[in-house]
Amino acid sequence: MASWWADAACADTDAELMFSTAADQQLIKRICRRCPVATECLIESLENQIQYGVWGGLTERERRVLLRKHPNRSSWRSLLQANSTTALV
Ligand code: SF4
Repeated sequence: MASWWADAACADTDAELMFSTAADQQLIKRICRRCPVATECLIESLENQIQYGVWGGLTERERRVLLRKHPNRSSWRSLLQANSTTALV
């Protein structure tokens, strides 16, 4: 498990919510907005091409949009630290 996970705002949340209905994913996204490790979480999903669930406040569909906009990007940290995720998708 990544070291940032210990500070995750969703650490006590049922993990199944992250992979279920759109309504559940919206609930998780609200938790992500106050998560201190959201950038690390999103980087983890993008760099490891995780295709399912909410990571870093983005659903799988939103991450696919982001990946299509930046097809050759291998490092995400600088882009994510300079922009809000909602501005990127
Ligand atoms: S950004 Fe969201 S999914 Fe990722 S660790 Fe934080 S609360 Fe959990």
